Amino acid sequence: MFKVNDNYLKLPGSYLFSTIGKKVKAYKEANPDKEVISLGIGDVTQPLAPAIIDSLHKAVDEMAVKETFKGYAPDLGYEFLRSAIAKNDYAARGADIAIDEIFVSDGAKCDSGNIQEIFSVDNKIAVCDPVYPVYVDTNVMAGRTGTYDPNTELWSDVIYMPCKADNNFAPEIPKETPDIIYLCFPNNPTGATIKKDQLQEWVDYANKVGAVIIYDAAYEAYISEDDVPHTIYECDGAKTCAIELKSFSKNAGFTGTRLGYAVVPKDLKASDGTSLNALWARRHGTKFNGAPYIIQRAGEAVYSEEGKKQTAEQIAYYMNNAKIIKEGLAEAGFTVSGGVNAPYIWLKTIEGMSSWDFFDYLLENANIVGTPGSGFGPSGEGYFRLTAFGTYENTLEAVKRIKAL
Ligand SMILES: *Cc1c(COP(=O)(O)O)cnc(C)c1O
Repeated sequence: MFKVNDNYLKLPGSYLFSTIGKKVKAYKEANPDKEVISLGIGDVTQPLAPAIIDSLHKAVDEMAVKETFKGYAPDLGYEFLRSAIAKNDYAARGADIAIDEIFVSDGAKCDSGNIQEIFSVDNKIAVCDPVYPVYVDTNVMAGRTGTYDPNTELWSDVIYMPCKADNNFAPEIPKETPDIIYLCFPNNPTGATIKKDQLQEWVDYANKVGAVIIYDAAYEAYISEDDVPHTIYECDGAKTCAIELKSFSKNAGFTGTRLGYAVVPKDLKASDGTSLNALWARRHGTKFNGAPYIIQRAGEAVYSEEGKKQTAEQIAYYMNNAKIIKEGLAEAGFTVSGGVNAPYIWLKTIEGMSSWDFFDYLLENANIVGTPGSGFGPSGEGYFRLTAFGTYENTLEAVKRIKAL
């Protein structure tokens, strides 16, 4: 009789977003006359920009013609897309990334979950708390996290780096030395960022102790402040210690079309000299058969003059929502952060209310759905995440309702 990978059985049961879904469904069924607004969405709502749609159409037509039809894409991605990435996301920021250091994928969730495969199960991971759940869960599946304590909601073999108001939601160098450090800036869920000199400290630290940083830059396009790094490779020495993950989901609306990439520099080597670039290429070639041609053409269009302009307008739309939420909640007396370099607003719940109590309170009294901070980790307790991905009209209405509470 077969047996399952029992690491999967260690995963704690109820998943944050399914619990929210159930609660909202039950509320709507009991209160059919109420108009519920979600500010909990972690997904874009604006349609794909016209320049992207044009490019998609063209690529679809090419697929219908014998001479231009495309079968399997190259393992690492088409060169037209990788050169656009190297030029716009790196060279333009003073970072020298070669195209064979860029691995096109179907999104940053897969990459952030899969990248741990190339590291030993003995490696110790460090994560921010609160955190995007994929990092820890995929390490649980790999058997790297030890045992789970349901009371503290912490894993015995994971190094947690609390991110709270007293450190401006920026992790501090941990006491225990990790092998793999997950960092995500601008951050989901807190919306916080760190400055370039702070990121440089992490790069210096990783190089010193021989750790690798997995840098999730999914929200890079939302950065509005000058001294916030757009890529970890703006920091000196990052090419010997960091992997960067990027996504076309949040900057260009590809959540449904799927496109992302990982940068694994050739200078990044394990202590025995093994090249991580070569290992990831091997893994990619074995387990991934390429992002679709038409989607890679759509991705290329994001870097066209029109594409840049149109996606910047969409980001400005979301960030206007962020400003409305942040300012409105501050006026209503809430302690709020984020929302400046990220589409996420992180607020403190009403004094004495847990994250889930506040979820129920907001749903029942303002008919607004958000995300309890404790769902992202124990240091998120007492906090709540609102997102700017809704419509302008719904955002205004939601803020009005919260102010009226
Ligand atoms: C949305 C998000 C991603 C992107 O995921 P895709 O698979 O590219 O859609 C990655 N990391 C974080 C932290 C995110 O919030």
